[in-house]
Amino acid sequence: MRKKIVAGNWKMNGSPELANTLLPRLAEVAKDIQADVLVCPPTVFASLAKNVAGESVAIGAQNCSDKASGAYTGEVSVAMLSEIGLSHVLVGHSERRAIFGETDELIAAKVAAAIEGGLTAVLCVGETLDERESDKTLEIVLGQVKAVLDTLSAEQWTQLVIAYEPVWAIGTGKTATSDQAQEVHQAIRNCLAEYSADGAGEMSLLYGGSVKAANAGELFAQQDIDGALVGGASLDADEFIAICRQAG
Ligand code: 13P
Repeated sequence: MRKKIVAGNWKMNGSPELANTLLPRLAEVAKDIQADVLVCPPTVFASLAKNVAGESVAIGAQNCSDKASGAYTGEVSVAMLSEIGLSHVLVGHSERRAIFGETDELIAAKVAAAIEGGLTAVLCVGETLDERESDKTLEIVLGQVKAVLDTLSAEQWTQLVIAYEPVWAIGTGKTATSDQAQEVHQAIRNCLAEYSADGAGEMSLLYGGSVKAANAGELFAQQDIDGALVGGASLDADEFIAICRQAG
Protein backbone atom coordinates (compact mmCIF):
# COMPACT_ATOMS: atom_id res chain seq x y z
CA MET A 1 0.00 0.00 0.00
CA ARG A 2 1.46 3.30 -0.99
CA LYS A 3 1.46 6.12 1.52
CA LYS A 4 -0.89 9.09 1.50
CA ILE A 5 1.04 12.26 2.21
CA VAL A 6 -0.07 15.83 2.81
CA ALA A 7 2.81 18.28 2.56
CA GLY A 8 2.86 22.00 3.24
CA ASN A 9 5.30 24.27 1.41
CA TRP A 10 5.52 27.58 3.24
CA LYS A 11 7.73 29.05 0.47
CA MET A 12 9.31 32.33 1.71
CA ASN A 13 6.55 32.88 4.26
CA GLY A 14 5.95 32.17 7.91
CA SER A 15 7.64 33.07 11.17
CA PRO A 16 8.66 31.50 14.47
CA GLU A 17 5.18 32.45 15.73
CA LEU A 18 3.53 30.48 12.95
CA ALA A 19 5.73 27.45 13.67
CA ASN A 20 4.97 27.71 17.40
CA THR A 21 1.20 27.94 16.94
CA LEU A 22 0.48 25.80 13.87
CA LEU A 23 2.82 22.85 14.36
CA PRO A 24 1.74 21.65 17.83
CA ARG A 25 -1.91 21.65 16.66
CA LEU A 26 -0.97 19.84 13.47
CA ALA A 27 1.05 17.32 15.46
CA GLU A 28 -2.05 16.32 17.45
CA VAL A 29 -4.07 15.83 14.26
CA ALA A 30 -1.27 13.90 12.57
CA LYS A 31 -1.37 11.32 15.41
CA ASP A 32 -5.03 10.62 14.57
CA ILE A 33 -4.81 10.12 10.81
CA GLN A 34 -3.31 7.54 8.49
CA ALA A 35 -1.71 10.01 6.08
CA ASP A 36 1.85 11.20 6.65
CA VAL A 37 2.10 14.93 7.28
CA LEU A 38 5.11 16.96 6.14
CA VAL A 39 5.80 20.67 6.57
CA CYS A 40 8.56 22.51 4.69
CA PRO A 41 9.19 25.91 6.31
CA PRO A 42 12.00 28.26 5.28
CA THR A 43 15.27 26.54 6.25
CA VAL A 44 16.06 29.19 8.86
CA PHE A 45 13.01 28.07 10.88
CA ALA A 46 13.47 24.36 10.28
CA SER A 47 15.26 23.56 13.57
CA LEU A 48 12.58 25.34 15.56
CA ALA A 49 9.89 23.61 13.50
CA LYS A 50 11.50 20.23 14.14
CA ASN A 51 11.55 20.90 17.88
CA VAL A 52 7.92 21.97 18.14
CA ALA A 53 6.49 19.43 15.66
CA GLY A 54 7.57 16.35 17.60
CA GLU A 55 7.54 12.95 15.96
CA SER A 56 4.18 12.93 14.19
CA VAL A 57 4.89 15.70 11.66
CA ALA A 58 7.92 15.38 9.38
CA ILE A 59 9.84 18.56 8.65
CA GLY A 60 11.54 19.13 5.32
CA ALA A 61 13.51 21.76 3.46
CA GLN A 62 12.43 23.52 0.27
CA ASN A 63 15.77 23.17 -1.52
CA CYS A 64 19.27 21.76 -1.08
CA SER A 65 22.64 21.95 -2.74
CA ASP A 66 23.83 19.16 -5.01
CA LYS A 67 27.32 19.71 -3.54
CA ALA A 68 28.57 18.09 -0.32
CA SER A 69 30.46 21.10 1.10
CA GLY A 70 32.79 23.91 0.16
CA ALA A 71 32.85 27.43 -1.21
CA TYR A 72 29.19 27.73 -2.23
CA THR A 73 28.04 30.89 -0.49
CA GLY A 74 24.40 30.82 0.51
CA GLU A 75 23.90 27.11 -0.13
CA VAL A 76 22.85 24.42 2.35
CA SER A 77 23.98 20.81 2.03
CA VAL A 78 21.92 17.67 2.45
CA ALA A 79 24.13 16.64 5.40
CA MET A 80 23.29 19.93 7.15
CA LEU A 81 19.56 19.36 6.65
CA SER A 82 19.89 15.84 7.96
CA GLU A 83 21.96 17.03 10.91
CA ILE A 84 19.06 19.17 12.20
CA GLY A 85 16.64 16.26 11.90
CA LEU A 86 14.97 16.96 8.57
CA SER A 87 13.75 13.93 6.63
CA HIS A 88 12.58 15.44 3.32
CA VAL A 89 13.54 18.05 0.78
CA LEU A 90 11.56 19.55 -2.09
CA VAL A 91 13.56 19.51 -5.32
CA GLY A 92 12.81 21.21 -8.62
CA HIS A 93 9.85 23.29 -7.53
CA SER A 94 8.62 25.32 -10.52
CA GLU A 95 9.67 28.52 -8.75
CA ARG A 96 13.24 27.18 -8.55
CA ARG A 97 13.10 26.15 -12.20
CA ALA A 98 11.61 29.43 -13.47
CA ILE A 99 13.09 32.07 -11.14
CA PHE A 100 16.43 30.48 -10.26
CA GLY A 101 17.10 28.75 -13.57
CA GLU A 102 17.36 25.21 -12.22
CA THR A 103 17.76 22.71 -15.06
CA ASP A 104 16.68 19.08 -15.22
CA GLU A 105 20.36 18.16 -14.90
CA LEU A 106 20.86 20.14 -11.68
CA ILE A 107 17.57 18.86 -10.29
CA ALA A 108 18.62 15.26 -10.99
CA ALA A 109 21.92 15.93 -9.18
CA LYS A 110 20.05 17.40 -6.19
CA VAL A 111 17.68 14.42 -6.01
CA ALA A 112 20.64 12.04 -6.10
CA ALA A 113 22.45 14.03 -3.38
CA ALA A 114 19.31 14.06 -1.20
CA ILE A 115 18.77 10.32 -1.52
CA GLU A 116 22.42 9.46 -0.98
CA GLY A 117 22.35 11.69 2.12
CA GLY A 118 19.44 9.72 3.55
CA LEU A 119 16.61 12.19 2.84
CA THR A 120 13.43 11.64 0.87
CA ALA A 121 13.32 13.90 -2.18
CA VAL A 122 9.97 15.36 -3.23
CA LEU A 123 10.52 15.95 -6.94
CA CYS A 124 8.24 18.66 -8.33
CA VAL A 125 7.22 18.62 -11.98
CA GLY A 126 4.66 20.52 -14.02
CA GLU A 127 3.84 22.32 -17.24
CA THR A 128 3.20 26.02 -17.88
CA LEU A 129 -0.08 27.32 -19.31
CA ASP A 130 1.54 27.79 -22.75
CA GLU A 131 2.76 24.21 -22.70
CA ARG A 132 -0.68 22.91 -21.73
CA GLU A 133 -2.39 24.99 -24.40
CA SER A 134 -0.03 23.68 -27.03
CA ASP A 135 -0.76 20.08 -25.96
CA LYS A 136 2.72 19.51 -24.55
CA THR A 137 1.69 18.67 -20.97
CA LEU A 138 2.69 15.02 -20.96
CA GLU A 139 5.83 15.58 -23.01
CA ILE A 140 7.04 18.24 -20.54
CA VAL A 141 6.02 16.47 -17.33
CA LEU A 142 7.28 13.03 -18.35
CA GLY A 143 10.50 14.62 -19.65
CA GLN A 144 11.06 16.18 -16.21
CA VAL A 145 10.33 12.85 -14.50
CA LYS A 146 12.59 10.82 -16.79
CA ALA A 147 15.50 13.26 -16.41
CA VAL A 148 15.59 12.21 -12.75
CA LEU A 149 14.62 8.54 -13.04
CA ASP A 150 17.38 7.95 -15.60
CA THR A 151 19.95 8.75 -12.90
CA LEU A 152 18.46 6.58 -10.12
CA SER A 153 18.09 2.89 -9.45
CA ALA A 154 14.61 1.60 -8.64
CA GLU A 155 15.84 0.65 -5.11
CA GLN A 156 16.31 4.37 -4.47
CA TRP A 157 12.64 5.06 -5.18
CA THR A 158 11.73 4.33 -1.56
CA GLN A 159 13.24 7.79 -0.93
CA LEU A 160 11.40 9.51 -3.76
CA VAL A 161 7.99 11.16 -3.94
CA ILE A 162 6.77 12.98 -7.06
CA ALA A 163 4.56 16.07 -6.89
CA TYR A 164 2.71 17.13 -10.03
CA GLU A 165 2.17 20.87 -9.83
CA PRO A 166 0.85 22.51 -12.99
CA VAL A 167 2.53 25.93 -13.01
CA TRP A 168 -0.71 27.64 -14.08
CA ALA A 169 -2.47 26.32 -10.97
CA ILE A 170 0.13 27.50 -8.44
CA GLY A 171 -0.99 30.45 -6.36
CA THR A 172 -3.65 31.35 -8.93
CA GLY A 173 -6.74 29.85 -7.36
CA LYS A 174 -7.16 27.77 -10.55
CA THR A 175 -6.93 24.13 -9.52
CA ALA A 176 -6.61 21.49 -12.18
CA THR A 177 -9.86 19.57 -12.30
CA SER A 178 -9.60 16.18 -10.65
CA ASP A 179 -9.82 14.60 -14.13
CA GLN A 180 -6.98 16.75 -15.47
CA ALA A 181 -4.83 15.93 -12.45
CA GLN A 182 -5.66 12.21 -12.58
CA GLU A 183 -4.77 12.05 -16.27
CA VAL A 184 -1.27 13.37 -15.62
CA HIS A 185 -0.79 11.27 -12.47
CA GLN A 186 -1.75 8.15 -14.39
CA ALA A 187 0.71 9.04 -17.14
CA ILE A 188 3.45 9.52 -14.54
CA ARG A 189 2.64 6.14 -12.99
CA ASN A 190 2.70 4.46 -16.41
CA CYS A 191 6.05 6.09 -17.08
CA LEU A 192 7.38 4.80 -13.74
CA ALA A 193 6.15 1.31 -14.62
CA GLU A 194 8.44 1.31 -17.66
CA TYR A 195 11.33 1.40 -15.17
CA SER A 196 9.87 -0.74 -12.37
CA ALA A 197 6.34 -2.13 -12.16
CA ASP A 198 6.56 -2.73 -8.39
CA GLY A 199 8.13 0.66 -7.77
CA ALA A 200 5.44 2.39 -9.79
CA GLY A 201 2.71 0.92 -7.61
CA GLU A 202 4.46 2.02 -4.40
CA MET A 203 5.36 5.59 -5.38
CA SER A 204 3.32 8.36 -3.74
CA LEU A 205 2.24 10.93 -6.33
CA LEU A 206 1.08 14.25 -4.88
CA TYR A 207 -0.93 16.96 -6.59
CA GLY A 208 -0.10 20.64 -5.97
CA GLY A 209 -1.65 23.87 -7.19
CA SER A 210 -4.33 25.83 -5.30
CA VAL A 211 -5.29 22.86 -3.10
CA LYS A 212 -7.78 23.89 -0.42
CA ALA A 213 -10.08 22.09 1.98
CA ALA A 214 -12.88 22.63 -0.54
CA ASN A 215 -11.21 20.73 -3.41
CA ALA A 216 -8.90 18.28 -1.60
CA GLY A 217 -11.46 15.50 -1.13
CA GLU A 218 -12.24 15.21 -4.81
CA LEU A 219 -8.56 15.20 -5.75
CA PHE A 220 -7.74 12.56 -3.11
CA ALA A 221 -10.53 10.32 -4.43
CA GLN A 222 -8.66 9.87 -7.73
CA GLN A 223 -6.93 6.57 -8.16
CA ASP A 224 -3.43 7.89 -8.78
CA ILE A 225 -3.48 10.91 -6.46
CA ASP A 226 -1.88 10.01 -3.14
CA GLY A 227 -1.98 13.37 -1.43
CA ALA A 228 -1.13 17.01 -1.91
CA LEU A 229 1.65 19.55 -1.84
CA VAL A 230 -0.04 22.65 -0.47
CA GLY A 231 1.30 26.20 -0.71
CA GLY A 232 -0.84 29.11 0.48
CA ALA A 233 -3.39 27.01 2.37
CA SER A 234 -0.62 25.39 4.45
CA LEU A 235 -0.06 28.72 6.22
CA ASP A 236 -3.55 28.59 7.73
CA ALA A 237 -3.77 25.98 10.49
CA ASP A 238 -7.53 25.35 10.20
CA GLU A 239 -7.41 25.03 6.41
CA PHE A 240 -4.33 22.79 6.36
CA ILE A 241 -5.71 20.56 9.12
CA ALA A 242 -8.97 20.22 7.16
CA ILE A 243 -6.97 19.12 4.10
CA CYS A 244 -4.94 16.62 6.16
CA ARG A 245 -8.09 15.07 7.64
CA GLN A 246 -9.48 14.43 4.15
CA ALA A 247 -6.38 12.43 3.24
CA GLY A 248 -6.39 10.44 6.42
P1 13P B 1 -0.49 27.00 -3.88
O1 13P B 1 -1.14 25.92 -3.06
O2 13P B 1 -0.33 28.30 -3.13
O3 13P B 1 -1.10 27.15 -5.22
O4 13P B 1 1.04 26.53 -4.13
C1 13P B 1 1.29 25.25 -4.59
C2 13P B 1 2.75 25.00 -4.50
O5 13P B 1 3.53 25.58 -5.23
C3 13P B 1 3.21 24.06 -3.47
O6 13P B 1 4.54 23.71 -3.67
